[in-house]
Amino acid sequence: MTGKRLILMGPPGGGKGTQAKLLKDAYGIIQLSTGDMLRAAVAAGTELGKQAKEIMDAGHLVSDEIMVGMISERLDQPDCANGFILDGFPRTVAQAESLAAMLQDKGVELDSVIEIRVPDQNLVDRITGRFTCSKCGEGYHDTFKLPKVADTCDACGSSEFTRRDDDNAETVKSRLKAYHGQTAPLLPFYESKGLLAVVDGDQDMSAVTTEIKRVLDS
Ligand code: ADP
Ligand code: AMP
Repeated sequence: MTGKRLILMGPPGGGKGTQAKLLKDAYGIIQLSTGDMLRAAVAAGTELGKQAKEIMDAGHLVSDEIMVGMISERLDQPDCANGFILDGFPRTVAQAESLAAMLQDKGVELDSVIEIRVPDQNLVDRITGRFTCSKCGEGYHDTFKLPKVADTCDACGSSEFTRRDDDNAETVKSRLKAYHGQTAPLLPFYESKGLLAVVDGDQDMSAVTTEIKRVLDS
């Protein structure tokens, strides 16, 4: 069951990060979130972080060149050898084409591209209610997933949580525009390669996980 290489696609707030965290443990593979990598660069105050911050806060996409370079380096690390979940990459046709070339060079094939489909009208609530454990990154929601003990992370016990600067109703509009304009065209791209599976993301988190596992295990 291990060794899977997959892309999780879907709109901002669609549940990619939530599902990636559950799947990585189940399949012994790693999560590669380009959003998390960029936020780490912002937090570290690197030159890339400084450039990316403004773009992210506006809800626009960081350049293909930067993103492709970032993922290419990351895929060369030994912890990717047993499989990976790409979360938030690729986001443009150019990124998808570069990824295909990169994987071919490395002699690696994708098993599946899974679209987590969620109607736009649910996404503002999903995004504005999102918060994360500052210590371990476990994800939560004001309505849909509160910690079991108030103000205490279920996973690591920390009481520090953060909210993303770009998780506001205004920025969601540009992020959705970027998704529909630049990222959704990848769905037919992967469908034509016979790799795409669509999962209903508008249901309980555990039901979404069950559907994804059914795809991966079939
Ligand atoms: P993405 O990584 O696609 O941007 P997240 O996984 O961070 O999305 O999910 C966005 C927010 O919605 C989080 O606060 C998460 O707890 C919540 N969420 C994720 N999946 C579901 C679901 N199936 N039902 C309700 N809320 C969900
Ligand atoms: P995410 O955490 O996936 O919601 O991404 C947060 C923000 O990071 C996005 O709104 C973009 O500004 C930037 N970003 C993340 N991944 C990519 C990517 N593959 N291409 C371009 N920009 C990205």
